[in-house]
Amino acid sequence: MSYEKEKKIAVEAAIAAAQLCEKVRGQMVPEAIEKKDRSPVTVADFGSQALICRALAANFPNDPVVGEEDAAELRQPEMAERLEQVTGYVKAIVPEATSAAVTDWIDHGNGEVGARYWTLDPIDGTKGFLRGDQYAIALALVENGEIKVGVLACPALKLDLADTGLMFVAVRGQGATMVPLAGGMPQSIKVVGPEDNANLRFVESVEASHGDQSLQSAVAKAVGITQASARMDSQAKYAAVASGHAALYLRLPSPKSPNYREKIWDHAAGVIVVEEAGGRVTDMHGNPLDFSKGAKLVDNQGVVVSNGAIHKTVLAALVET
Ligand code: AMP
Ligand code: MG
Repeated sequence: MSYEKEKKIAVEAAIAAAQLCEKVRGQMVPEAIEKKDRSPVTVADFGSQALICRALAANFPNDPVVGEEDAAELRQPEMAERLEQVTGYVKAIVPEATSAAVTDWIDHGNGEVGARYWTLDPIDGTKGFLRGDQYAIALALVENGEIKVGVLACPALKLDLADTGLMFVAVRGQGATMVPLAGGMPQSIKVVGPEDNANLRFVESVEASHGDQSLQSAVAKAVGITQASARMDSQAKYAAVASGHAALYLRLPSPKSPNYREKIWDHAAGVIVVEEAGGRVTDMHGNPLDFSKGAKLVDNQGVVVSNGAIHKTVLAALVET
């Protein structure tokens, strides 16, 4: 299968969602609502999920979508004003949008993991989005546990290449590309080679509680990385590895939440982009990430993303450090 249609629809939807998110960031100070797990959600998260789920539902009506957000809270009477804001932003892109349609589109993302499903993080790195830093719109198609298509839109990522943000696209077996979000010719991307010392740096989360920064530094040092880490929110970290700007992304369980299990939408798109750029992704024990088990990577702990060349050395250092 070439996945041409899947790729086209996913790319178009991610571009529209990125436009909505940047418009929200430019026009208002997005106010965060605290979710039950105490993580933040904004008008832009809802708008992005509505746009992407609408496109997926229209083109692939039988595919479940496992998205991060749902509209239950947004449907509450006290949220009417917020819902109206979301609808306004969606309407600017889809003129026929109504509040009822928007909540239905968002809830199309309440699907469950099956033989074939999409997983969506409408804004990965909401904290980065609120801070004015990195965030990503992450969408992936999974079939029988294997990621087939991944789109990662990073509206705030420039990598000295674009003023308008970058998008990363991968299809299994077809390589990975990068293109300015504003449009242009997609270019192939590749991870850094083992001889490239200038880019032998590592990336990790801005949020210290999403990892174990002291262990991450120790492991990086043990594999010969002398530069301090670049800290970035969201799956933009996968993009940095895939495009050769970093050799390693470490996400080791935080000592404060050792039993945390990663969410599929925080990784699926990034994983295929890195793999198709020649890199490797496993958990901290060297096992592949298992996207067939549900919304969480229940059988995996920690995530190690590398250019491939240094992967074994990193896993060995993890055992010893
Ligand atoms: P990042 O921007 O890479 O720090 O990742 C943001 C994501 O971290 C959010 O989308 C959350 O799903 C996820 N997250 C929340 N709590 C934790 C935790 N304790 N450990 C790892 N990831 C977490
Ligand atoms: Mg996320």
